[in-house]
Formats: sequence, C-alpha cells, structure tokens
Amino acid sequence: MLEDVSESASIEEVLKKLKGDLDRVLKKSQVGIEKVLKKSQEREKELKKSQEQLNAMLTNLKDPVFVISEDNEIMFMNQHALEQFEEGYVGRKCYNALFGRNQPCEECPIESVIGAGMCQNRIEKTITLPSTNQMCHFDINVSLIENFKGKPAILELFRDVTKQREAEGELKKYRDHLDELVKERTHELKEAKDLSESIINSLPGVFYLFDDEGKFIRWNKNLIDLSEFSNEEISKMNLLDLFKGKNKNIIAKAIKDTLLKGENNVEAIFTSKSGKTAPYYFTGVRIMIDDKLHLIGMGIDITERRQAEENLEHTLIALKRSNKELSRFAYAASHDLQEPLRTIISYTQLFSKRFKDKIDDKADKYVDYILDGTMRMRNLITDLLVYSKIETHGIHFEPTNCKDLMENALSNLNALIKEKDAIITYDRLPTINGDPSHLTKLFQNLINNAIKFRGVKSPVIHISTKKVEHEWQFSVKDNGIGIDSKYFDKIFVIFERLHTRQEYPGTGIGLAICKKIVERHEGRIWVESEIGKGSTFYFTIPLIEYKNNQKI
Ligand code: ADP
Repeated sequence: MLEDVSESASIEEVLKKLKGDLDRVLKKSQVGIEKVLKKSQEREKELKKSQEQLNAMLTNLKDPVFVISEDNEIMFMNQHALEQFEEGYVGRKCYNALFGRNQPCEECPIESVIGAGMCQNRIEKTITLPSTNQMCHFDINVSLIENFKGKPAILELFRDVTKQREAEGELKKYRDHLDELVKERTHELKEAKDLSESIINSLPGVFYLFDDEGKFIRWNKNLIDLSEFSNEEISKMNLLDLFKGKNKNIIAKAIKDTLLKGENNVEAIFTSKSGKTAPYYFTGVRIMIDDKLHLIGMGIDITERRQAEENLEHTLIALKRSNKELSRFAYAASHDLQEPLRTIISYTQLFSKRFKDKIDDKADKYVDYILDGTMRMRNLITDLLVYSKIETHGIHFEPTNCKDLMENALSNLNALIKEKDAIITYDRLPTINGDPSHLTKLFQNLINNAIKFRGVKSPVIHISTKKVEHEWQFSVKDNGIGIDSKYFDKIFVIFERLHTRQEYPGTGIGLAICKKIVERHEGRIWVESEIGKGSTFYFTIPLIEYKNNQKI
C-alpha cells in the first residue's frame, strides 16, 4: 500500500514535471512564433514602404517611365509618361499603344532583356506624341525589375533626346556645309596658286619670296634658269648663297634695310652655280606672312643697261672734252681776232674820214660796206667771247641781290630804253646764289630782246619772281611780236634767228648765252608765247634763302 501511494505520488510528480516542461516549451514556442510573426510583419511593412518609395520615385522621375510586363503589357506609367502619352495606355500592349503595331517591334528591348538574359539595354525610337502630335526622339533605357506587383517586369525610362538629335542634325548640316566650303576654298586656292605660279613664271626677271633669314619660300623658273640650281637645291638655299665676295655684303645690307624701311632696291652681281656672273637690279618689299617678316621682289638683268651707261659715260666724257676744246678755241679765236679787227676798224674809219668824197661814190660805198661788216664782226666776236667765257671761267657763286643786278642791266640799256620809250617794271626781287656778272647779262639780254622784238606799241615789260617748290622762278614778260610755238626750242640754239638782219639786227647768240648762264646755275629756261600777243621768258634758279647775306 505504501508502495502504491509512493508510486502514484511519483507519477503525479512526473506529470507535474512534464506539464511544467510542456508549459515552458509552449511558452517558449509562443514567444518564438510571436517573434517570427513580428518579423514577418516588419518585413511586410518594409516591403510596402520600399514599394511606396519605388512608386514615389518612379512618379517623381523627370522623364517618362513605363513599367511593362514580360508579355508586353503596360503596367504602370509615371506622371510624366501620363502627361506626354495617354492614361489609356495602361493595360495595352506597349507596341500597340506606343507604335500602333499589332506585334512586338523587330528590336524589342524587352525580349533582349528578358529573352537574352541581359540586365539592361538601350534603344532609340522615334515616337509621335499624342499630346502634341509631335515626332520626338527617345533614348529608352530598359532594365529588368525582378518583381513589380508580384510579377517580373521591365522598367523603361524614356529620355527625350529630340533637341539633342536636332542639334546634332544641324551640326551635321553645318559640318557638311563646312566640308563643302573647305573643298571649294581648296579648289580656289589651287586655282589661285596655279594662276600666281603662271604669273610669276611669266615675269621678265627673277622672282623671289624669302623669309627674314633669307630662306627661299617661292621663286620662278627664271631664277632656276639663271642660278643653274634645281628647285630642290634652291628650296634648301639662302639668298646670299647666290652672291660672292662683296656682293654678298651688299645684298645682306640691302635685305636688312628693306626689312627696316619697307622697300629698297640695289644693284649687285649675281653668280650662278657654274660661276657665270651678271649684273642685276634687285627690288624688294617687306611683307608679313603669318605674323612673320618676309621679303618679296624681282631682279632684272642690267647687263645691257650697264653697257649703255658705260657707252654714254664715255660719250659724255668725250663730248665734254670736245666742248671744252671748242670753247677754248672759240675764246682764243674771238679774243685773238679782236685786236686785228680793232686795227681794221680804226684804219677803215681813218680811211673813210680822209678820203670820203675824194675818190668816187663807189669807193665811199665800199668803205661803208667794210665798216658795216667789220662792226657786225666786232659784235659777233664780242658775243662769242661772252658765250665762250661762260664755259671757260670757273664758277664763282655768291649771294647776289637781283634788285642790284636789275638796276645794272637797266642802266646798261638806258639809252635803248629811252629811245624806244620802254616801260619796265619789276617785283620785289630776291637774293639768290649766283654769278652777278652772268646774271646781269641774263636779265640784260632778255630785256634787250623784249625791247628789240617790240610790236607797233611801245614796249611794256614786267619782271616778276615767285618760289616754286625748291626754286626761284623768274619771268620776263613783254608785249612784243611773239614767237610761233614751233620755234620755242630752236631760238635757244646758238646763231639761230627767226628774222633777217634787215628786219631785226642781231647775232643769234643772245638766248644761247642766257641758256648757258641759267644751266650753269643749275636752272632751266623756256618761253611761252603767241604770235602778236607777246612773249614770256621763264628761268629758274635753285632756291637758297638768305638773310643779311647769310644762308638760312
Ligand atoms: P638775236 O636777238 O641776236 O637775234 P637771240 O638768241 O637773242 O638772238 O634770239 C634768237 C631769236 O629768238 C631772235 O632772232 C628772235 O627771233 C627770237 N626772240 C628772242 N627774244 C624774243 C622776244 N622777246 N620776242 C620775240 N622773239 C624773240
């Protein structure tokens, strides 16, 4: 009995223990279940939250977004997609809604992503927007979303690249236009180059263009022919290589001067490859090409000119010598003739005085002829002597007051002036650099002629002067018979006269003397005249200004 009691007591204890264990286990598993439940609730919450976040994100995206199911059905459109496309697109097949097709597009990006297992793809499509009816270019970024609303889906992000494509189109058009222009310019340039090539090759001399170091840039065929170097050799040469000795220095200096002054010219001897030489006249002008100084120019062969110059110089020397000899001879002859002529005149006058009316009329007439002839001869010899003296006497120039000269000349002509009732006026006359006795003679001869070649009216003569550039210009104007323009040059030649001795006396040396005097003063003399209207004789004397007989 005792045993039974203890036995039932232990079962009870075991049961109690078991119940306690079971309660504990139950309690534990309930806590576990609660924990799991809580966790799953949290996950669901998180999932919802992220779903909401995804929706919010898709909605707020600036570009249109489509979510499309794997069987091409549009499941979702964000706000921008709805604005640009139509709400009714949702639930429709994308190829039908977007492109009006009855079957998927050839390059269906959904297929490529899902079918080919790519995570992402890009495609560009042109779509007419129903909202504006405008054609737009979209760059569509396609990516796989594992699960959208519990289904596998594709997310398509549309980026409007219309403006970009239009800009690219414009850019292409612009580039094509530019290409066209470049082509045209290249063609024009080639034509211009061909033209300039033919021009420089047709130039009569050598043509060159070189840089500031003398390196040839362009040249013509003549340079190749003359130098005997090839085009290739010239392209590596310096201009100075074509000159030898002192000519090299002449050219180097000329180049320096041209680059400094802008233009220049120089004569130098050109030496060819084989050593042939020729005198050349080179011209050069400084030009800028690509901001660098260059020199362009031409050279002309002056062999013939040099030869002609040398001949001319020889002729000139010979002419000067014979002129001098002639003048010396004329001077000596006229000087030496004076004495015997004076004797003839004196004795003829004596003879006439003593035997006039004592022989017969004829003898008287002959004596008169002799006297007339010898007097003329005396005048001729006197004028010739003056003429030759101008050449043989040295130049003694000094400050000469023309008013004094004028007064001397008028005083020498006093008798003639009074006899012919001549009115002579003159401007304020300057002081010039010259030979006073020659200049007096010059004024005297011109005034003498102005009185001698008078018309029916009394002679009215005016002498004036003015500065013309670097010269004094004098004029002696009369109201005489005038001169035919065809004799304007002839009258200045010695012994040339336009009238007979009976009409107007004279030797024909007066104006030749005037010309020589003016030329010795480095001036010019000429006449302007009209028959019956008078003449004006002009002459110039280089301008040197004086104040109190001092040059200023
Ligand atoms: P000449 O006076 O001795 O004849 P010139 O050498 O002085 O010699 O002049 C040459 C010629 O020029 C004159 O014969 C005359 O025909 C012409 N002549 C010169 N001066 C004048 C003048 N003032 N008016 C018209 N003719 C003139």
